[in-house]
Amino acid sequence: MLDYKAPKDLLKDRVILVTGAGDGIGKAAAKSFAAHGATVILLGRTLKKLEAVYDEIEASGHPKPAIFPLNLEGAAAKDYEDLANSLDEEFGRLDGILHNAAVLGPRTPIDQYNTENWMQVMQVNLNAPFFLTQSLIPLLRQSNDASIIFTSSSVGRKGRAYWGGYAVSKFGVEGLMQVVADELDDEHNNIRSNSINPGATRTNMRAHAYPAENPAHNPAPEEIMPVYLYLMGPDSAGITGQAFDAQPKK
Ligand code: NDP
Repeated sequence: MLDYKAPKDLLKDRVILVTGAGDGIGKAAAKSFAAHGATVILLGRTLKKLEAVYDEIEASGHPKPAIFPLNLEGAAAKDYEDLANSLDEEFGRLDGILHNAAVLGPRTPIDQYNTENWMQVMQVNLNAPFFLTQSLIPLLRQSNDASIIFTSSSVGRKGRAYWGGYAVSKFGVEGLMQVVADELDDEHNNIRSNSINPGATRTNMRAHAYPAENPAHNPAPEEIMPVYLYLMGPDSAGITGQAFDAQPKK
């Protein structure tokens, strides 16, 4: 999938929401979607980081993005409603969501896993994608060709010791992706739902998970963008319910 070559105007005139857009893979995806013509809604919890991404996109001459600061850990129904209302007022539709924001949580055995941390990890990694998808489906319905991308992990496809809530939340994300894909495979047939496992990628989360690793051995987020572009754009029309890998399996 790394060899997909996206045409420059792949996402022209599309409106795409990216969560966790201030850093790491989300930041690279937001910039890449904008560089391919999309108006990107930058959602994240650290305003300063979102503003920096906004400035970079604007300075590159790509479509002017929008910022929606939201901490997904504490977000309530009203926040999701506000987001849906403001997108409706501004654009009247939504052409894509990249559910990317996530937290790692503790790396501990289940019998020692702190329950508060468990709830936090589930809230950000699994509940937030559910709330967002639920509140934004009516706007995705207004698009001619919409794509929802969920972000998984290799531990969301095969459980591994000490990955606790993170691994379980990613299994949940895969489940949500499949349920949504099956439900939306209907007579409208305009919304696809797929997941991506980015694979080892040079970000803060990866450095936190593998402190002894040399980060230079992993690709930068910019290098794994082909599959994100493929799934967000029209070339993946009709593909739904599938689990993708951004990098070849090692
Ligand atoms: P980073 O930690 O670098 O970035 C995560 C982003 O999510 C940050 O912008 C962060 O905001 C945001 N975020 C975290 N918590 C919240 C919250 N409560 N509300 C709003 N935004 C929040 O991670 P990566 O870029 O590495 O990861 C991106 C995705 O890829 C995740 O879903 C991760 O699980 C997945 N992944 C990553 C891999 C890797 O090797 N990097 C491998 C497999 C999966 P802030 O900047 O404010 O901290």
